[in-house]
This record gives sequence, structure tokens and C-alpha cells, in this order.
Amino acid sequence: MQVQCRCGAIKIQVLADPVAQFFCHCDDCQAAHGAAYVPESAYAADALVIAEGSPSAWMVKRNQRFFCPTCGTRLFIDIPSVGLRGLNGHLLPAGAFEPQFHMHCSYAVLPVRDGLPHYKSWPPRFLGSGEVVAW
Ligand SMILES: [Zn+2]
Ligand SMILES: [Zn+2]
Repeated sequence: MQVQCRCGAIKIQVLADPVAQFFCHCDDCQAAHGAAYVPESAYAADALVIAEGSPSAWMVKRNQRFFCPTCGTRLFIDIPSVGLRGLNGHLLPAGAFEPQFHMHCSYAVLPVRDGLPHYKSWPPRFLGSGEVVAW
């Protein structure tokens, strides 16, 4: 599968199935996206390959992120500590983003009440405690 930024200058090849898909409420994602929480589709780092264009790198708080220098689309984040690259879920075609949980809910701006688990910090999948918030 191939995804691209809004203007098409950057094209990214997706070579594998996602390791996990989720909404992240952490303060780093909030600051980088100017949003309450962000859809992320996480892959093994080498499964997301730049096929065309040169994304620009920037860091807001903790992790390096990449965006299109022409249209500003947020593309992906690198999380080297776990060997993952998190693609912005907005870039996937309709139906390809199937969230399994919310994480870093201790930072949540407001409760999001749905049928998914709401992990306070990291989910068990990412070696977290699996502790959930009250909502
Ligand atoms: Zn672009
Ligand atoms: Zn986050």
C-alpha cells in the first residue's frame, strides 16, 4: 500500500501490516498536532519506506516527527526505543484504520467514551502495566 501527504510531494510505501492501531493522547502528540488526541498506525520501523520526496524532521518534546515541507501534513513519528514508526492514521485509506485502544489517557483533555480500552499510560502490548483510567 502507498500513502501520501495532502499535496502528493511525499509518498510512503507501507510494506507490512500494522503492529497496532490506536489513539494516542500524550502531551507530545497533543503539542505536535494541535489536537486532543491522534490516530496512529504503528509499524516495524523498516516497514514504512519513503518512496518519493524528502520529509522534514522536527521534534516538539520527546520523539522525532516528520512532515511535508510543502503542505505541512504530519506524516509519521519515530520511536526508536521500541523500533516502531507511527504513521498518522489520517493518511490511511478509508477503512484501513481500525483502532484497538486509547493510550496515554492520563493526558486526555476530555474523556472519550467508546468500547475500546483506555490505558492510563502504555498498553500491555507495548510493555506497559495495562492500567486503565476510570472512563
Ligand atoms: Zn505535501
Ligand atoms: Zn502520543
